[in-house]
Amino acid sequence: MNYISWSKIQVNPTNMQQNCPRDTQVALPPPLADAEAARRDMAGVALRTPLLPAPALSEMLGREVLLKMETMQPSRAFKLRGAATAIARLNPAARAKGVVCCSTGNHGRAVAYAAQQSGIRAVVCLSELVPPNKVAAIEALGAEVRRIGRSQDEAAVEVARLVAEEGMTDIPPFDHPDIMAGQSTIALEMLEDRPDLAHLVLQLSGGGLAGGMARVAKAMNPAIRITGVSMQHGAAMAASLKAGRPVDVDEPHSLADSLGGGIGLHNRFTFAACRDHIDDHWTVSEAEIYRAMQTLYYRERLVSEGGAVAGLAALLAGLDGSGPVGLVITGDAVDMAQFNAIMAGQDVTLGETILKGQPWQL
Ligand SMILES: *Cc1c(COP(=O)(O)O)cnc(C)c1O
Repeated sequence: MNYISWSKIQVNPTNMQQNCPRDTQVALPPPLADAEAARRDMAGVALRTPLLPAPALSEMLGREVLLKMETMQPSRAFKLRGAATAIARLNPAARAKGVVCCSTGNHGRAVAYAAQQSGIRAVVCLSELVPPNKVAAIEALGAEVRRIGRSQDEAAVEVARLVAEEGMTDIPPFDHPDIMAGQSTIALEMLEDRPDLAHLVLQLSGGGLAGGMARVAKAMNPAIRITGVSMQHGAAMAASLKAGRPVDVDEPHSLADSLGGGIGLHNRFTFAACRDHIDDHWTVSEAEIYRAMQTLYYRERLVSEGGAVAGLAALLAGLDGSGPVGLVITGDAVDMAQFNAIMAGQDVTLGETILKGQPWQL
């Protein structure tokens, strides 16, 4: 397996051709076969999750709403699908050396869990500023934590070093064929369960989820509509699609912290997939995300993180359409004090700003 290193590309882009001469020429495999192969590869680590009817939301929105419950993955977010697929595809030599990544969020948890289940070594590189509870959560999943420097960039340099000097494999969070194939299995399952789904409204950050799912959904039903949803500020993929090439954007603090981060200025797969297969885009404000978290809890009794309800927030804010609509509840890694404050309608501090609270009402 000729795995390419995301961090190597970022740190030293001019070396890309030399480092991975074969991989740069690889086109993605046909979407359906790709998703079916990923499903076999992730089996036993990532689960097939239920597609739940949501009667209260359906009534509110005047169309049938179905919820794909990725919070029921053992790592509590869909990112396990991609990580499990990538790890399952490592050759024996790569397995012996282990995997590395530098995410403190859902991707880091997914890599730690999938590596633990597969019996291979995982190192998660973090900055010294990452709070101890997050470190403990990753260690509890059996990963080694290395705390380096005072920023994620410095942690990324340590990842690159482990790849170069110890032969470990970097598992990137979105821009890799195996990661996209893993995330794309969500579309396969949803359309197997409900072939009549007319519209998917998907959270969009790096685009592994929406780009991967859109390829498969369009292969299964060319008429299905795919809407990508990002937050109003810090939507790197939406800005990149508008610019016609990957660009960086400023990133204010958001309730949807899992949707933060750029798409990589040397993006190779997800930018094109999103450009070619997503039909339209919508952005949501912090207040709309706040209200969507309340709505999902008060109407359907489901706990979610802000990044998991951007799609619902778009529908509640007026994104229209017809026919059955599918949402992916992507994760529930929410700080419970923040969650409780939102359910109580209290103000929430986001970095330097205060998001005004709003009591829940129908
Ligand atoms: C990573 C993540 C997303 C976005 O997925 P991308 O592949 O980066 O677009 C959405 N929701 C949650 C909870 C996530 O962790």
